[in-house]
Amino acid sequence: MPSPTENQQHLDITAERAKCSFDPSLLTPLFYGGEDTMAQLKKIEAMIDADPIFDRDDRYFLGRTERFQRALPMVKRYVELRNKHGLTPEEAAYFKVYIDDYIPVPTKTKKLIDSILPSLSITAMFLPVLRSQASDDQLKVWGPQAENYHYIGCYAQTELGHGSNLSRLETTATLDIERDQWVINSPTQSSAKFWIGTLGKIANHAIVQAKLIIKGKDCGAHPFLVPLRSLHDHTPLPGVVIKDQGPKQGAISMDNGYARFNNVRIPRENMLMRFSQVSREGVYSKPIHAKLAYGGMTAVRTTLINHSALSMARAVTIATRYCAVRRQGNVNLATDLETQVLDYPSVQYRILPLLSHAFATIFSGYWMNDMYAQYNADISKGDTSLLKDVHVYSSGLKSYCTKLGADGIEEARRCLGGHGYSLFSGMTDFHRQFLATVTYEGENALLTQQVSRYLLKLYKDVLRTPNMHLSPPSKYILSLFHHNLFANQRCEAHSIKDFYQSEVVLHAFQHRAARLIYELAEAEKVSSGWSDLNLECMRLSKAHVQYIMIENFYNGIEKRFNNHANPTVEQQNVLAAVRSVYHLHVFYTMETELGEFLEDGYLSPVQAQWVRQGLKDALKAVRPNAVGFSDCFGFTDTFLNSALGSYDGRAYERLAAMTEREPLNKDLTDKNGVIWGYEEYLKPLVYGQVGPYMGKVNGAGSSKL
Ligand SMILES: Cc1cc2nc3c(=O)[nH]c(=O)nc-3n(C[C@H](O)[C@H](O)[C@H](O)COP(=O)(O)OP(=O)(O)OC[C@H]3O[C@@H](n4cnc5c(N)ncnc54)[C@H](O)[C@@H]3O)c2cc1C
Repeated sequence: MPSPTENQQHLDITAERAKCSFDPSLLTPLFYGGEDTMAQLKKIEAMIDADPIFDRDDRYFLGRTERFQRALPMVKRYVELRNKHGLTPEEAAYFKVYIDDYIPVPTKTKKLIDSILPSLSITAMFLPVLRSQASDDQLKVWGPQAENYHYIGCYAQTELGHGSNLSRLETTATLDIERDQWVINSPTQSSAKFWIGTLGKIANHAIVQAKLIIKGKDCGAHPFLVPLRSLHDHTPLPGVVIKDQGPKQGAISMDNGYARFNNVRIPRENMLMRFSQVSREGVYSKPIHAKLAYGGMTAVRTTLINHSALSMARAVTIATRYCAVRRQGNVNLATDLETQVLDYPSVQYRILPLLSHAFATIFSGYWMNDMYAQYNADISKGDTSLLKDVHVYSSGLKSYCTKLGADGIEEARRCLGGHGYSLFSGMTDFHRQFLATVTYEGENALLTQQVSRYLLKLYKDVLRTPNMHLSPPSKYILSLFHHNLFANQRCEAHSIKDFYQSEVVLHAFQHRAARLIYELAEAEKVSSGWSDLNLECMRLSKAHVQYIMIENFYNGIEKRFNNHANPTVEQQNVLAAVRSVYHLHVFYTMETELGEFLEDGYLSPVQAQWVRQGLKDALKAVRPNAVGFSDCFGFTDTFLNSALGSYDGRAYERLAAMTEREPLNKDLTDKNGVIWGYEEYLKPLVYGQVGPYMGKVNGAGSSKL
């Protein structure tokens, strides 16, 4: 029988739902991109929930070796079900998301980013790079092999000695013109490929980034398709030394690996030749645009934006539900109940902004998906005009959103108090996986340099050509042309209310970003080199990305959600609720960055106070709907795998039940409740059989105790 305290948890969560001002089920399809998408999600979830291979009840008790052993059957079943049910590429991608483990096999998606579904998946790099870098002829041969898992591939760029700095990779691919082959070598220990997902034990092919060398001339890093293991019996091929690289912070089911190559020969045609080619005579043609080589990476960065949104939404779901049913501290004398911790403003301040970031991020994810789709359409016609924007915005958003997620999820976990430290909270396992996103596909801090370099260049172009065409998100740079006017700009808000006007807010963010561009340009004039400007770059990139995220959030609500000529009352309620989350995002972001709005006098101290007050008001406005928002994300209890964040709010009962499954309580404890090892290790201590303490305290020869 649940105790009164346990029952209260269910009453609390029920009361939360009763006071929600909107119907969360109406918001779910909007968040995920439509009813069709929802139907696909539900179909996949049912398929996985019904299959014991994907059971996650014991997951938190398993170590690395066991998790890897579990992952392999999952891989096979995933492919079986995909084939049997003819899953679309999008469904197959969501399949991997819902399994919720880093199973060591790439996801097959035909087109990378069509809708939210494939974008939810952390797509391994092998396929995106193959698709974007192999020529059409190569794809005809290799594509089906990869699609059908005949080739299980990985993407091997990072080396022990270098990752971010592609130009200093040491692996070489030297052309043997006579035999029409490349000879792949890892000349040094530091040139060993390292961190490569699925390389350690699973993959039989790798796309290897290696320095292309023809007649002694180094043409820089290029991708090559290199067979690693025999397709006959999976043994490593001659000249290939491969190992799993060992334990990691997360992604423990994945065999990130290490490889060295010793005179491994592959046909000349195994160089990926969409953008650069080497002829039979050994003539090298370079790509029309240097950044084309990053196509696959750009695609994966784009998927990481949506992945961040979903991860934040997941953390918010657990945190809001638990903090709504956790009572602690101040007692209400009328009811004799302690306060729901979600009612403490400090807890709201640490959780609810993450909710707003999840929405802001998903809208920017949609925006990025659209841009990427347009870019793909253009590039197939030879038009590379969007290349820079796609590269820069996917880099900037990836960098900012994964950091928002990594930091925000940890803060939400801390809000759960001691129980948040238990794996049963459901916060830790997925967060540990997520943490890697700040590093791979471009280390976050480094990516800010690419965004800033691009903005700086645009600024210099504007100074030369003041009426030049700029794409909408960077149009504000034009305001810098008349710097005297720009420097006198001041925020137009006359009261807190004005900060609810989108133009006031957007202008403030544009002004801040423009000023930071100007300051970067000024700092560059006196700097000792680009590295000297790291901090300016980080600040500027963040300011620019925050601006486009706020704009995307606003446009997303007003265009994507508010598209009914005659909205029903229910639709209006949804809209009002989401707008309150938008305002929270705006006030929180402004408040966090107040110094940068104040330092040139754009915002006055009084306006800064209004922003602070606006944040408090926004938290209050969102609070009653917090649990409703967590419901709108539609995560199943199975997926959350959280004692604290389940739909029915019964956290204590679930926590106690999960404790029952702990192996220390079962396999290592006898029927009398005595732990293994008592006789051998503990009893001698208790019975004084380990000898007396022989140390000296103050030379007295007595025990310290
Ligand atoms: C879980 C996981 C999976 C991965 N999977 C793959 C994979 O499948 N294939 C693959 O090829 N790689 C993979 N990687 C590797 C990953 O892509 C690299 O770790 C990443 O690109 C960063 O490179 P690095 O490790 O060399 O970091 P470094 O470049 O050594 O960076 C170290 C620090 O130095 C800073 N820094 C470096 N250069 C500069 C500079 N010029 N200016 C200022 N600061 C600088 C960085 O910001 C960072 O803080 C994976 C990594 C992880 C964690």
